[in-house]
Amino acid sequence: MARINDNYLKLQAGYLFPEISRRISEFTQANPEANVIRLGIGDVTRPLVPAVLKAFHEGVDEMAAVETFHGYGPEQGYDWLAQTIVDKAYKPLGVDLKPSEVFISDGSKCDTGNILDIFDLGNKVAIGDPVYPVYNDTNVMVGRSGEMDDQGYYEGLVYMPCTEENGFNPEFPKEKVDLIYLCFPNNPTGTVATKEQLQGWVDYALANDAIILFDAAYEAYITEAGVPHSIYEIEGSKQCAMEFRSFSKTAGFTGVRCGLTVVPEELMGTTATGEKYSINKLWNRRQCTKFNGVSYPVQKAAAAVYSDEGWAQTKEIIDFYMENARIIREGLTTAGFQCFGGINAPYIWLKTPAGMTSWDFFDKLLNECFVVGTPGSGFGPSGEGYFRLSAFGERDNIVKAVQRIKEKWGK
Ligand SMILES: *Cc1c(COP(=O)(O)O)cnc(C)c1O
Repeated sequence: MARINDNYLKLQAGYLFPEISRRISEFTQANPEANVIRLGIGDVTRPLVPAVLKAFHEGVDEMAAVETFHGYGPEQGYDWLAQTIVDKAYKPLGVDLKPSEVFISDGSKCDTGNILDIFDLGNKVAIGDPVYPVYNDTNVMVGRSGEMDDQGYYEGLVYMPCTEENGFNPEFPKEKVDLIYLCFPNNPTGTVATKEQLQGWVDYALANDAIILFDAAYEAYITEAGVPHSIYEIEGSKQCAMEFRSFSKTAGFTGVRCGLTVVPEELMGTTATGEKYSINKLWNRRQCTKFNGVSYPVQKAAAAVYSDEGWAQTKEIIDFYMENARIIREGLTTAGFQCFGGINAPYIWLKTPAGMTSWDFFDKLLNECFVVGTPGSGFGPSGEGYFRLSAFGERDNIVKAVQRIKEKWGK
């Protein structure tokens, strides 16, 4: 009989979101009249903007005629989309990239997981705690870890606690690591890193021959001037960092699927015999072999995000979500909660009152306010005692949810 990859059995069996669903359905069965407001999930709610939709439709129509039909495209994505990203997403930041350094994909969940294909299992990996679970679980799946301990940490992975004390910007790992996952603006804490803090990481990576895997999925939500949108705004970063971006949260592409990974030509790893080797070449080889590109209409739609009209419309939706975030953050602060994030990210990370556990707070919020959020402990041990509320949602729901919480906890 075929042997399975036993590493999968080390994973906690899809615990967080199924458990949330179970508790919601238990509650709604007992309270069918309750109007439950869900601020738990990390998915957008607003539809695609008109300019994007128009380009998407045009792309589909082109597929209908012999003259304009598109079959397989380049595995790395169409050059015109890569060039648009170089010009519209990076040049304004003062970052010069070549289209050959931009790899278009079907999303950055896939890319952050797939990237492990090109790195040796012997690499030490550092991840944040709390964390976007993909970084943790994909490393467990490839066999980089041992079993999970009682606390929820996997043996062999290096965890970097992100706490109130360190401003949710982790300290450098105490042991030597080779790959460092960073996510700013952060999911789940909603916090950002300053230019100086990111410079610290780049200097650290250069000094330790490590590579930073920088997830910038939420960069479009940054509202404060001076907060870096890209790791490439940091000096020396092209020698030590790759960056993941996505149209998912930026432009509502969670159900459309388009993302990108930047791998600068300067970025090098080492072979078993100690020679330098281009990470760009390796990732290109990986994608050409295992990926066949993103569909043509989707890439047309993605390019339209960066048209003048498309960006104005896209920005309006981001502003809408960020106004939601402001309403949540200010409302909860008024109600006496300590809140983090929500200024440069669509997530509010609040401290549970009176030292309640994340799950106790989840139950209380559901039972007394009919509001659903995400228990911080589901993102890692250091998330215990915290709770994530998402700013994705319709305005009246957001206002209603905040009102209920204020009535319950406000003085
Ligand atoms: C939503 C999200 C992504 C984007 O994933 P896609 O696969 O592009 O939809 C990436 N990283 C983080 C931290 C996210 O929350």
